[in-house]
Amino acid sequence: MSNSSTLALYGGKPVRTRLFPAYRVIGEEEKSAVARVLDRGILSRFLGAWHPDFFGGPEVQAFEKSWANVSKVKHGIAVNSNTSGLYAAVGAAGVQPGDEVIVSPYTMAASATAALIFNGVPVFADIDPQTYCLTADTIRERITERTRAIIVVHIFGQCADMGPIMELAREHNLVVIEDCAQAPFASYKGQPAGGLGHMGVFSLNYHKHIHTGEGGMVTTNDDRLAERLQLIRNHAEAVVEKKGVVDLSNMIGFNFRLGEIEAAIGFEQLRKGPQLIEARKENVQYLESKLVGLPGLSMPKVGPAGDHVYYVHALDFDESVTGVQRAKLVEALKAELPCTELREGEGPLVGMGYVRPLYMLPLFRQPEAAAGPNSPIARAHAAGQVSYADGLCPVAEKAHFSRVITHELMRPGMRREDLDDVVNAFQKVWHNINQLRT
Ligand SMILES: *Cc1c(COP(=O)(O)O)cnc(C)c1O
Repeated sequence: MSNSSTLALYGGKPVRTRLFPAYRVIGEEEKSAVARVLDRGILSRFLGAWHPDFFGGPEVQAFEKSWANVSKVKHGIAVNSNTSGLYAAVGAAGVQPGDEVIVSPYTMAASATAALIFNGVPVFADIDPQTYCLTADTIRERITERTRAIIVVHIFGQCADMGPIMELAREHNLVVIEDCAQAPFASYKGQPAGGLGHMGVFSLNYHKHIHTGEGGMVTTNDDRLAERLQLIRNHAEAVVEKKGVVDLSNMIGFNFRLGEIEAAIGFEQLRKGPQLIEARKENVQYLESKLVGLPGLSMPKVGPAGDHVYYVHALDFDESVTGVQRAKLVEALKAELPCTELREGEGPLVGMGYVRPLYMLPLFRQPEAAAGPNSPIARAHAAGQVSYADGLCPVAEKAHFSRVITHELMRPGMRREDLDDVVNAFQKVWHNINQLRT
């Protein structure tokens, strides 16, 4: 594909129009697991009272044990989403009204709103330009006497540098929650995500590496935190008395319970996970071997964790090398590529940036409107204790607004010929990059 040709953006023939194959992870194993649950006829066996069924049915409990084994932690607590898992984790951490929770701005919104559920105040710290995760140094700058917890997000599939973060947390007596939604099966220096901090939270949403449609899992090695997570998941207020729980802090529960069908699917998904991750890594390696060297484009760097499970493949683009705007370039790439089966509505799975730094959401710009004028966040904001202003996290802003290009075209199911079309699209755009300068 070295000959010059008109870019599809300008009416040329696209590299490919036939849809890319779907990422299909649900198969016969899940079908028979679901049939087993349907035959049994018990689709959930949680009871919101102090009773053996407080812990849920057989599928939920088997799934939790299996997840804990894989994550090398003592407890798995199944929940119905990563979002609800984060809420439960913030509650279990003992966050009180006005307590500050330090979090990355470069993540899905729930990582930051979790603090608000218990009237905490999200405080955004900047990210590392190579891993896009929080670092001990950026966290340290934001610690005050009100800081209670840190939510570290292993974004894009790579763990944050947890060693120094845990050391800092010990120094200041802070609870560390890992948001592992994008990093199941990832490791940090050989140790699985979810057991690096005090609690880890995973997502089983359809978009993630493995899924149950909707679902989630919280992991911990701490018996007390496990009990608090189980209580918040399942109507704590109706359980504490008979269970003999005397610490009533945050003991107002929710219904964050996972169903038996989802748990049965999750059990099978967990078994498939390692192969799916391996296939994904191989696809990335193949793509990178072909894309390396395109001017201005850098492949993702694997940092101190020593591992990456590539929820997305985040490329770093430096506009100054080619003089071509990132927006123009991404538009040109999309024009060369087709949509992916099952996700046709999303367009070609190539994107610019990831999410706007979260402090730019209306919620953080007008906390008094969203959370109420007397809410701790509104008061802290009005008093100037916390800032959600532009420029707060320059590295995250630069990543989102000028440098990062993401794609998901490395998911298993993509065959060599499909990957070659991705490579052809990149090469065609770069070989004809002059057309984008006009
Ligand atoms: C997907 C995601 C979530 C939310 O997960 P749900 O299971 O959909 O609630 C939270 N944090 C991150 C980083 C995510 O990618």
